[in-house]
Amino acid sequence: DGVTLEQVREHVWEIPRTGDMRVPARVLASEALLEEISDDKTLEQLQNTTHLPGIANYAICMPDGHQGYGFPVGGVGAMDVETGCISPGSVGYDINCGVRMMRTSLTYSDLQDREEELVDSLFANIPSGLGGGGIVDGDVDTVEEILARGVDWALEHGHAVEDDLLHCEDEGMREEADPSKVSQKAKDRGKNQIGSLGSGNHFLEVQRVTDVFDAAVGEAYGLEEDQIVVLIHCGSRGLGHQTCNDYLRKIEQQHRGLLDKLPDKELAAAPAGSQLAEDYYGAMNAAINFAWVNRQVIMHRVRKVFERVFDRSWEDMEMELLYDVAHNIAKKEYHEVDVGPDGTPAVGDEVVGREERELYVHRKGATRAFPAGHPEVPKAYRDVGQPVIIPGSMGAGNYVLRGGENSMELTFGSTAHGAGRLMSRTQAKNEYWGGDVQQQLRDQDQIYVKAQSGATVAEEAPGVYKDVDEVVGVSDALGIGDKVARTFPVCNIKG
Ligand code: 5GP
Ligand code: MN
Ligand code: MN
Repeated sequence: DGVTLEQVREHVWEIPRTGDMRVPARVLASEALLEEISDDKTLEQLQNTTHLPGIANYAICMPDGHQGYGFPVGGVGAMDVETGCISPGSVGYDINCGVRMMRTSLTYSDLQDREEELVDSLFANIPSGLGGGGIVDGDVDTVEEILARGVDWALEHGHAVEDDLLHCEDEGMREEADPSKVSQKAKDRGKNQIGSLGSGNHFLEVQRVTDVFDAAVGEAYGLEEDQIVVLIHCGSRGLGHQTCNDYLRKIEQQHRGLLDKLPDKELAAAPAGSQLAEDYYGAMNAAINFAWVNRQVIMHRVRKVFERVFDRSWEDMEMELLYDVAHNIAKKEYHEVDVGPDGTPAVGDEVVGREERELYVHRKGATRAFPAGHPEVPKAYRDVGQPVIIPGSMGAGNYVLRGGENSMELTFGSTAHGAGRLMSRTQAKNEYWGGDVQQQLRDQDQIYVKAQSGATVAEEAPGVYKDVDEVVGVSDALGIGDKVARTFPVCNIKG
């Protein structure tokens, strides 16, 4: 349907440059996944993103890619910081949606026969769903401090230990955060959502490690077969959503010229160097800090819940943060870029060489996957590469990968972020009934799901997602994110 694809090599497909495309686009997928990706508007959206000013090398769709707002979910686009742009829709509405995994020293047998008690206790103590407040009852001043300081705020207020900061991207704080660029309305929405999961796709899951594929890296990550881990998936709640919305409107008002030249209004972008680009970057970084605090506060509460259920201290159960990864963000990073005669990202065939350039790397539904040795990988993992956490579904496997050797060359240091949706929410509700899904998971797989709403369970049924094993297989084969371990759900709470 209007989009041409050529195979470059196994798992690598290219949409060649035509018309006003500045660069080609690439899809990283197996044939089976490519067929699913071709089902909706993903390819068309991917092609559209190649029109964005200053986009470098190529626009990339990960194996879990699917249609999103303007820019596909599972998309990576890197735009020059001096001559390109930054695009809120290419970050996503849920700024710094992401996942973090916490290890424990418990094993599956410690949990058996306690699943019900644990899931009930988590459900009772971790706020979820649309309303209902957060773990911390904040005011606007609190929100502003969180926006500026990130997890450092949580440390000062007893929701974190020093070690948690060292196991989070950027140690849980983006220094470029500018709370004054976040609207009053966004701050108001954040006040009673500090430490809350939200609804829909967000979840908290207790899992058991079923496989360790790489013993050495598994050891560096502290993962062993049969071990219990906790996975938390949520983002910046209403605060991030409002921030995205605010800046999309501002771009429409202030940068109409650029907008009119783009093939899709949803790609609205602020030109690099404009006041609005700076303002959005400051606001986005602030929302990123908010999301990190959100996941941190929830994780610390989970420690307390485990203490009560197992009657042991969390330190004794070695409940330590493995890692926290963001999967809806933009970040200034240096990468090797094909440049044209003027030394900026080449358009079309003008390539005269390769240079290191500073780029706004947009990862929307994509995870950073820096390889071993990269200075931004925390010390604890620098010799093996960054942990990458890829959830599957409430009834499927989940993966821990490590950033692969080829990620810098192929994907601006990125890989997939999940299995990726196969079916819209509406379709899912016609297909499934929440109560049935819950019962089946419990009877067949001993998975205990508790949700605020049955509709959510239907919308998130395992069948609405792609095959995570297939997605991870592509990442592993391309060497952008290598398989380390696999986990399987035991208890799941949802909004
Ligand atoms: P997002 O919603 O952030 O785009 O995607 C996150 C990924 O999480 C999805 O692509 C899906 O693979 C996975 N996922 C969604 N719901 C659940 C769940 O309840 N449990 C687990 N383990 N994974 C899930
Ligand atoms: Mn989210
Ligand atoms: Mn997410």
